[in-house]
Amino acid sequence: MRELLTATAQRAIAYLDGLPHRAVAPSAEAVARLRELDIPLPEDPVSPETVLHTLDTYGSPATMGMAGPRFFGFVIGGSLPAALAANWLANAWDQNSAYYNVTPATAVLEQVALRWLLDVLRLPPDCGGAFVTGTSVAHLAALAAARHSLLAKTGWDAEGSGLFGAPPLEVIVGAEAHPTLLKSLAILGLGRKRVLAVPVDSDGAMRLDALPPLTDRSIVCVQAGNVNTGAVDPVQEICRRAREAGAWVHVDGAFGLWAAAAPSRAHLVEGIEDADSWATDAHKWLNVPYDSGIAFVRDPDALRAAMAITADYLPTVSNHRNPGDFTPELSRRARGVEVWAALHSLGRSGLAGMIERTCAHARRFAEALTAAGYEVINDVVLNQVLVSFGSPEKTLRVIQDIQADGTCWCGNTLWQGRTAMRISVISWATTEADVEQSIDAILRMAARD
Ligand SMILES: *Cc1c(COP(=O)(O)O)cnc(C)c1O
Repeated sequence: MRELLTATAQRAIAYLDGLPHRAVAPSAEAVARLRELDIPLPEDPVSPETVLHTLDTYGSPATMGMAGPRFFGFVIGGSLPAALAANWLANAWDQNSAYYNVTPATAVLEQVALRWLLDVLRLPPDCGGAFVTGTSVAHLAALAAARHSLLAKTGWDAEGSGLFGAPPLEVIVGAEAHPTLLKSLAILGLGRKRVLAVPVDSDGAMRLDALPPLTDRSIVCVQAGNVNTGAVDPVQEICRRAREAGAWVHVDGAFGLWAAAAPSRAHLVEGIEDADSWATDAHKWLNVPYDSGIAFVRDPDALRAAMAITADYLPTVSNHRNPGDFTPELSRRARGVEVWAALHSLGRSGLAGMIERTCAHARRFAEALTAAGYEVINDVVLNQVLVSFGSPEKTLRVIQDIQADGTCWCGNTLWQGRTAMRISVISWATTEADVEQSIDAILRMAARD
């Protein structure tokens, strides 16, 4: 075990050391060599050293450099050193972190991580929380709590009786709602298409003048951080109207919620603490390893009512917080460990600095590309930049070329009918030099005919 793990750590370190110097996307040859992994299942055991050697030889070169400093696709964080190291240690612990009495260390770490998160994100300190795989499942947990709470007020037991014959709930979303939100609604029986979609402005934020009247059967799903533009819905006013009506406000703040932790960006999410539930990712702006998201619910009892189970063989009774009372999963790894380690290592100022820095990098991209005569088509309020290089064909060609070039990796999108390059800066590892090197490469690709 000792030799294997030491050698594996050395392999991992060599991989990470190599990231800044290799092409971000894997080469076609490296991808082709993955066939070496597609072998018949061995009849007999193979030594772990051989297994690891094979994995590293064929797997590592065919990975996308997402952990490196110049991957700007989707919204992909890296792994902070303390978070990655904590992940390694927690995997050695191998705790099934459902119940405090059985796994006290990881239960306590999650509880402290939850308190710290509510603090840095400026959310109500008494919120319930669930450490889940990502925002997709955070939506599921939070909206299950919403469903429970609104129906319980009508005397209906959503968990016991399901939705057959239940009083109808009305779900309101922005026209730019993320598809994972709609999927959660579908899984919960609230319907992907039964929603009322509120029209949005040119940056994708819900138009208040188009918001329908709310009732105590309404769930309004707002967004903090549009995945293309970074735009934030007018959440303060929506929360005010929801409060008056007794409606529930759920926030998709997968990355945008973290604006609250950065002094120069906090105004963008002002009033967001007045919502009822929030879903966010730690694997995006907090830069912990996959998979890691969190659901926060103002009323912890609503989340517990939707999620907790009992069984004679389970140690569910405790004077302490049982992580498993709040999550869709029973058996689960202790995701809070990395969150704790990341926040511990950054401190409040380090977290603010990381968010400020990535936003500044995004602004630098926007300025440089604008100065070179290309069109930035969104208002760069956070870390997302959309650029057009002219015709859709030309823009797609530049994106294809930059991916093949390997200096950095940017994806494409169609934003309100316009083809654009998406540049999302969210990794702790990206430096000013990485940004300049990437700008030079993008401009070089754009200058080709
Ligand atoms: C990333 C993202 C999601 C989905 O989160 P996962 O962690 O991939 O489940 C949802 N909404 C927004 C706005 C996002 O950026």
